[in-house]
Amino acid sequence: MSEAAAGPAIRRLADWSAADLTELADEYGTPLYVTDLDRVRENATRLQSAFPDADVRYAVKAHTGRAVLETVRDAGLGAECASAGEVVRALDAGYDEVQYTAVMPPAEDLDIVLDRWRDGADLTVVAGAGDTVTRLRDRGFDGRLAIRVDPGVGAGHHEKVTTGGHAKFGVPYDRAAELVNDARADFDVVGIHAHAGSGISGDDLAAHRELVSRMGDLARSVGPLEFVDVGGGFGVPYHEDEPPLDLEAVAEATRESLGDVDAELAIEPGRYVVADAGVLLTRVNTVKAVDDAGATGKVPVVAGVDAGMTTLLRPAMYDAYHAIRNLTDERPARPVTVAGPVCETSDLFCEERSMPAPRRGDLLAIGNAGAYGYEMASTYNSRPRPAEIVLAGEEARIARERETIDDVTALEVER
Ligand SMILES: *Cc1c(COP(=O)(O)O)cnc(C)c1O
Repeated sequence: MSEAAAGPAIRRLADWSAADLTELADEYGTPLYVTDLDRVRENATRLQSAFPDADVRYAVKAHTGRAVLETVRDAGLGAECASAGEVVRALDAGYDEVQYTAVMPPAEDLDIVLDRWRDGADLTVVAGAGDTVTRLRDRGFDGRLAIRVDPGVGAGHHEKVTTGGHAKFGVPYDRAAELVNDARADFDVVGIHAHAGSGISGDDLAAHRELVSRMGDLARSVGPLEFVDVGGGFGVPYHEDEPPLDLEAVAEATRESLGDVDAELAIEPGRYVVADAGVLLTRVNTVKAVDDAGATGKVPVVAGVDAGMTTLLRPAMYDAYHAIRNLTDERPARPVTVAGPVCETSDLFCEERSMPAPRRGDLLAIGNAGAYGYEMASTYNSRPRPAEIVLAGEEARIARERETIDDVTALEVER
């Protein structure tokens, strides 16, 4: 593999230039997402190098911004979409071939996606229920179909992102072969699919192996297919001292567990492509001491910032850890709780974490914010969503304007 094109295995928060980020925050304000497209490209290249004979499909829900989609498409990755909106955005970004994995698809989603298919879009629909297959048939779809299987094993860093073992996703493993064979009468059945949630890590390859091996067995039992898609879930080290994922080891385990199949291997990483390509910048507006010296003997402080769970939801939703760095100054460490402006107890980025005590006006950077960051942002508490800057080479440009309060109320209808 070309080391230069694939870059280092991980970009840590400490590797970002404090001076450059500070300049961006000064120019564009905070909270601000910064996404480095060159790093997105490196991550895509590293995946292709580790899986040279697999079809790598980017799960666009991790970051569906136009600039990211165009970068990933240019790098040669496919597009895995979870909704009609994602399908439309991927096509608009120049993809002429997309995979749509329908999870309890609302009728409108099926209608929109099939309109695009009738207009000539090269589309593969992945159905995770017999009902979905019926609804596709009823709408006159006879194109490329894959069947999503509930493999009965799940990987996941948190129960809310473990999808593999839940009946919501995919048809029961024991009934999958029958559905594949029945569907062959009416559709071009091209593949089988499974996704076990998000959290493939070095220690966790057993669950991945089991899933892939079950998919290999299924592929052999149903005969020739175009692809066996074993999903995404490639982990990234959110803790600064965690080692990066050994992609080569995952690739080897995948190949070994799949065995010989008359089909191409496909994978669908989302997080891995974009997580370390993004940081969230936020400014400290309030600092208060907590009246308790605790076991450390140091007085903990609460630092209030202008980003919150509406900007980056992962800590509140998944108890996710994100590294936080003070870009303004290094001071003696003390226990710091970083809290957002939303009236919810869970609106915290960390609790009593040892870090330099922030002062009002300091700029903080939150690491690994490129995946499921902007995409999960909301306007709860009437908070406009943040702006996003993309970096490419020496260039920095605005990719998404900051929302305004007028945007938040734009759809309200007065009587
Ligand atoms: C979310 C999702 C992915 C990507 O998961 P990551 O953890 O971001 O890699 C892949 N496939 C499907 C079907 C998904 O829903």
